[in-house]
Amino acid sequence: MATIFSRIAQGEIPSYKCAETDEFYAFLDINPLVKGHTLCIPRREVDYIFDMDDDEIGRFQQFAKHVAQAIKAAFPCVKVGEAVLGLEVPHAHIHLIPMQSERDMNFSNPKLQLTAEEMQATADAIYREFMK
Ligand code: AMP
Repeated sequence: MATIFSRIAQGEIPSYKCAETDEFYAFLDINPLVKGHTLCIPRREVDYIFDMDDDEIGRFQQFAKHVAQAIKAAFPCVKVGEAVLGLEVPHAHIHLIPMQSERDMNFSNPKLQLTAEEMQATADAIYREFMK
């Protein structure tokens, strides 16, 4: 059975799209630690990121870099932090989190409650930067 993230990448389940290529897709985390918290995934189903071969993980990281640059342009921050957990969803994903301080990378923090309009505006701002 397809993972929830495969179904998101295929458009079967709605998401707030931030960026895409033929091979990868980026969308807002539904429970953001901060505004702009984005997930990058490969369209191909693979659970553990370190099972990717060297070329694929290289392209994946390059995609994440371009998304991180778009996030930073849309939401000025000290740096965009990157994390890989994968304990919840068995489909490789990179968390990108615009940081004002290292506290923003604490996954135990309470999550932000944003309206659908705020989520859409956030995703649109990142997408516009990614497409520049
Ligand atoms: P982890 O696998 O531990 O990296 O956590 C999975 C992450 O995916 C969590 O931060 C969730 O909030 C996020 N997530 C789960 N389902 C969705 C969804 N349908 N849309 C966006 N983000 C999701």
